[in-house]
Amino acid sequence: MGGPIGPPTPAALERSAVTTHAVVLGGGLAGMLAAAVLARHVDAVTVVDRDKLPDGPEFRKGVPQARHAHLLMSGGARVIERLLPGVTDRLLAEGAHRIGVPEQVVWLTAYGWQHRFPQTQFIISAGRPMLDWVVRDEVLRRHPHVATMPSTEALGPLGDANRIAGVRVRGAGTGETVDLEADLVVDATGRGSQLKRWLSALGLPPVEQDTVDAGIAYATRIFRAPEGARAFPLVNVLADHRVPRPGRNASLAPIEDGRWIVTLSGTRGAEPPTDEDGFAEFARSMRDPLIADLIAVAEPLTAVQGSRSSANRRLYYERLPAWPEGLVALGDAVAAFNPVYGHGMSVAAHSAAALDEGLAEAGLTAGATGRIQRAVGARADDAWLLAASQDLCYPNCRAEVNDPRLSPGVQAQRRSFSDLIGATALRDPAVSAAATKVTTLSEPISSLESPQVVTALRRAKGRPALSAPPLSDDERAVLRVGEPA
Ligand SMILES: Cc1cc2nc3c(=O)[nH]c(=O)nc-3n(C[C@H](O)[C@H](O)[C@H](O)COP(=O)(O)OP(=O)(O)OC[C@H]3O[C@@H](n4cnc5c(N)ncnc54)[C@H](O)[C@@H]3O)c2cc1C
Repeated sequence: MGGPIGPPTPAALERSAVTTHAVVLGGGLAGMLAAAVLARHVDAVTVVDRDKLPDGPEFRKGVPQARHAHLLMSGGARVIERLLPGVTDRLLAEGAHRIGVPEQVVWLTAYGWQHRFPQTQFIISAGRPMLDWVVRDEVLRRHPHVATMPSTEALGPLGDANRIAGVRVRGAGTGETVDLEADLVVDATGRGSQLKRWLSALGLPPVEQDTVDAGIAYATRIFRAPEGARAFPLVNVLADHRVPRPGRNASLAPIEDGRWIVTLSGTRGAEPPTDEDGFAEFARSMRDPLIADLIAVAEPLTAVQGSRSSANRRLYYERLPAWPEGLVALGDAVAAFNPVYGHGMSVAAHSAAALDEGLAEAGLTAGATGRIQRAVGARADDAWLLAASQDLCYPNCRAEVNDPRLSPGVQAQRRSFSDLIGATALRDPAVSAAATKVTTLSEPISSLESPQVVTALRRAKGRPALSAPPLSDDERAVLRVGEPA
């Protein structure tokens, strides 16, 4: 059993001289962004993570999803840039791609091929290990009062239902438990967060939870892009959720070092295989075979990796009748989404911004963390609604939800409006720009009901529908690599 001693970190050594200390549980994206925020509001920050935190773009066990494509939407990327000015340039210098949307995306949506209008938003495409490492490195380099405690597992909170006073941790190597005292504890331990159980052990009532599980499974393989195709557009071939059969999606994204990351996914009943031949066949079974044709001319660099933890799951911490002082949860620990929509990291960024705003407004005064938790819940709402309402369309989707907006009647109305937006966006630049703002989490869903968008919908003239992928001649030539001249 551990005693009430401070963390054995540089921050701890200065503890006697400081007045406020925050502990962040989890050094993933949400945790490191939270640390960047906290560095501005408290005197010392300790980030605890179960893993060794590598000094480079390496895969680690605690973020298993990092083997799959990770697209950072402009709505989240702008927030990360605000928290860590210059980080986008560093990501690009390390080999990330900035993809203009919709211009640099070859995109078969549910409604057809999207015209490649001039870009209005962007996506950062990079291997997740690199993205995490750059953010972690930038936070630690800029903020000497942020220290990490790697190979250390969070076991549970100290304190009571009224106030969290720290956290008990255990070193992986030593097995020794230590109590870290803190004025603020941030749970950013991801999908596997135990916070719900920890709070119940403190005597708080059960936390309300909604789950929408379309049974999405992922299969990913990394390829070397053919010569001349290193900056190929992002390619997305998506399911048509209006057809009552399991959905199949495929995406090919350029990442660092001239590689393509190809991720296939399917809802329950259409799970992609994880053997090499099955992977190629599944890619060919999409609504369009473009990605199968592209990987046929690329060199495989890895085996196929599978994954299944991808249900939409939302915990409504903000609805507890009383929230303990000194505690905030964010990132996947609060709301995790079907990754096909590419929103989890951006929601983590928006949640970190909510933490920043809340602390700037009220510091750690009474009631502040409760208000921050409500703001964190609100920042997850659009991504939740977009993902959950679409996934409910797939057969065999398992849902346990109380969200009234997902009841069949309201859902039908919502879907018909979003189908109208989606179908018009393909061919009309103004509607496409409005829709893209929402799908990149740059503007709220409610912005689609603005008079400007309604007028644009009415006036939409539209270009002719595309019957084939909108590739330039140079892009099309990539498909002929290896053919005799
Ligand atoms: C297959 C897949 C593909 C995805 N693709 C995208 C995408 O394209 N775009 C996008 O925006 N999002 C995507 N996501 C979602 C994205 O991965 C998450 O939203 C994001 O990682 C959330 O960050 P986080 O910091 O909350 O959690 P995580 O990144 O999971 O980090 C949690 C951290 O907590 C640590 N930890 C856990 N338990 C403990 C403990 N008890 N003690 C100490 N440390 C602990 C872990 O080691 C880890 O470092 C995808 C998810 C999946 C599953």
